[in-house]
Amino acid sequence: MHHFHYIDNDLYCEETSVSEIAQKVCTPFYLYSYATLHQHFRVFDDAFGHLKHLTCFSMKSNSNLAVVRLFALEGGGVDIVSGGELYRALKVGVDPKKIVYSGVGKKTEDIEYALTSGILMFNAESPQEILKLNEVAGRLGKKANLALRVNPDVDPITHPYISTGLKQNKFGIDINEALEQYIIAKNLKNLDVRGVACHIGSQLTQVSPFVDTIEKLKGLINSLEGSGIRIDYLDLGGGLGITYDTEAPPLPREYAAAVHDVLGATDLTLILEPGRVIMGNAGILVTRVLYTKTTNDRTFFIVDAGMNDLIRPSLYNSFHAIQPVRLSGRSKVTADIVGPICESGDFFARERETTVFEPGELLAVMSAGAYCYSMSSNYNSRPRACEVMAKGNRYYVIRARETYEDLVRGESIPDFML
Ligand SMILES: *Cc1c(COP(=O)(O)O)cnc(C)c1O
Repeated sequence: MHHFHYIDNDLYCEETSVSEIAQKVCTPFYLYSYATLHQHFRVFDDAFGHLKHLTCFSMKSNSNLAVVRLFALEGGGVDIVSGGELYRALKVGVDPKKIVYSGVGKKTEDIEYALTSGILMFNAESPQEILKLNEVAGRLGKKANLALRVNPDVDPITHPYISTGLKQNKFGIDINEALEQYIIAKNLKNLDVRGVACHIGSQLTQVSPFVDTIEKLKGLINSLEGSGIRIDYLDLGGGLGITYDTEAPPLPREYAAAVHDVLGATDLTLILEPGRVIMGNAGILVTRVLYTKTTNDRTFFIVDAGMNDLIRPSLYNSFHAIQPVRLSGRSKVTADIVGPICESGDFFARERETTVFEPGELLAVMSAGAYCYSMSSNYNSRPRACEVMAKGNRYYVIRARETYEDLVRGESIPDFML
């Protein structure tokens, strides 16, 4: 579900013409629909309405202040993976008591920052991190609320780069070693053991890996109780997939029903960390065709956005639908849609059947709300694109395009070269 649609052959975001925005803000730019974001958050959160739960938006999927603010206003919390994300969340008024902190490599300064901010919970991912949390909390005269992120060794059946809950992955503590680590944590005086956490991967298109994971976690929770460790929170992470192409992932309510079935009656508060399912289809990347080029081998459409703006096809070979901003009715061709960057991996689509495009035309790279802007870079000294949010027939620039001055901010030439 999303609010990008054609009216008289022109692409609109809600009631705002995409080409009119392009005229004002130039290309490339990201465009998010307020209505889609709002609806996605509500549908997801409401799906768990019959269970005690907290929806913590996964900020790494999109950390724009306006986006995070939108979810905070809906009562959501956030899942953070760095001090930088904590800074953003606090800046837009996310309640610290709704912030969970995951990640395999939490830095000491970031742990201090999170402790002094009074976040809900640290999801610790290694035995050494448990000790570190205890030590830092003791030094600050605080208690750290702790969950262990458990690696259940369940195959999420997704791209290997976004599988996180297999035993060969770097994430979490092996479920078979978890009990021992919980007992250690329980005996450390600056820690308060509060939860069990997991996150098995992203872009899951079936419920069965979630169900298998919860089965395993239930076993762990039982053995914890047997050892006198009672927990309050079960954090299921994120991972629900979206339709990029022809995938048919479960709906949030189907996911919630499956969770409910396998969990049964419980006093636990669930924590859910959706990222992609809320953001993915709520955004597009709008780019302009610069040139077309036909060689003996292929047709290329060269556009003004590159892998620095949206790296998913280059990184994971992932599929993004690409649509004309104005439907032309021209014939179809098999072509590569590529960026201006000096890498052959700089492509958005390869050997894709698409309409013929002319220089100057606008294209929309669809499903670009999650893990697109947040993974963008300045490679090739390209200023990062601007981000725009449309609501009804109005739009708002929620992040300005970077300037050349922004590109060199913080750089300096050593004295001896002056
Ligand atoms: C990335 C991540 C998420 C969000 O995953 P999605 O697939 O975008 O829903 C949730 N929790 C943790 C710990 C993550 O690393």
